[in-house]
Amino acid sequence: MIIVMSQNATKEQIENVEKALTDLGFKTHPIVGDVKTVIGAIGDKRHLNTNYISTMPGVENIVPIMKPYKLAGKELQKNPTIVQVGDVKIGGTEVVVMAGPCAIENLETYLETAEKVKQAGAKILRGGAFKPRTSPYAFQGLEEDGLKIMAAARETTGLKLVTEVVDTRDVELVASYTDIIQIGARNMQNFRLLKEVGMYQKPVLLKRGVAATIEEWLMAAEYIISEGNPNVILCERGIRTYETATRNTIDMSAIPVIKELSHLPIILDPSHAAGTWKYVNALSKGAIATGADGLIIEVHSSPDAALCDGPQSLLPSKFEQLMKELAPVAEAVGRTL
Ligand code: PEP
Ligand code: MN
Repeated sequence: MIIVMSQNATKEQIENVEKALTDLGFKTHPIVGDVKTVIGAIGDKRHLNTNYISTMPGVENIVPIMKPYKLAGKELQKNPTIVQVGDVKIGGTEVVVMAGPCAIENLETYLETAEKVKQAGAKILRGGAFKPRTSPYAFQGLEEDGLKIMAAARETTGLKLVTEVVDTRDVELVASYTDIIQIGARNMQNFRLLKEVGMYQKPVLLKRGVAATIEEWLMAAEYIISEGNPNVILCERGIRTYETATRNTIDMSAIPVIKELSHLPIILDPSHAAGTWKYVNALSKGAIATGADGLIIEVHSSPDAALCDGPQSLLPSKFEQLMKELAPVAEAVGRTL
């Protein structure tokens, strides 16, 4: 619920209300505005009697929150969240493009690809060191050696990094290397993992689960934010439907829906949605036109030889061409690239 304090509520009255809420077991998040202070009270305390809060001095009224995602939703925060990654801002006017191979395979090809995506205009470098694979026999990633290669690429290119963590035991390690921690689709409802990344201040790229509703996805974001990390970037990557023509079915509607329900930035991953490089161009344009704040695209210097997701990876030359074609689309919707 939200406690709206009256315009002339004193500091002491605000503190008293916060204390009363804390005593009842709520976590409080005061938001001090120019005219009024509102206090967000987080916690499922429906069985508790909170009526007396409304009669406390300085309280104007109490607004119950019907939506279960209180911190990820717009009730407490109307303004868009801008997630800052170094000097890159995600959620502002600029459409931020993240690119790189699915998995880190070796230093040489990673550096080469990193340099190329940078030249084409990508701001963030992607790469998987811990790979969540459907088969236990498939390449699982280089783990810490892969993270070291990523760090070397950041050193030479200046690009910021995004990489996935799949296990709570590796969060500290991954966070020590990366600039954005990725939570993959398969782990969107791994609540222990969400809580763990919530304990850091590092931005989190939260992918939508393969069969997750938008509400479930926002509740996953809520897990992260309620632990104290507000730097969440949502990523639509397609969901599983009866359609088999593409690897996943892109839910382009999720972009405007999220913009209506949440203040968090949202980006699109056209590569995992399509499953083939051929549709990446069209889907990327669609996402920007629909209001996405960025894209994450798989790029590989020799897709045929890729250890993971080669068929959906763009050649660097194709990526460069795509970036050129995206610029006017961004401009048409009042964004820059
Ligand atoms: C990835 O980005 O490499 C990945 C595994 O994506 P997803 O979790 O969306 O399948
Ligand atoms: Mn991949």
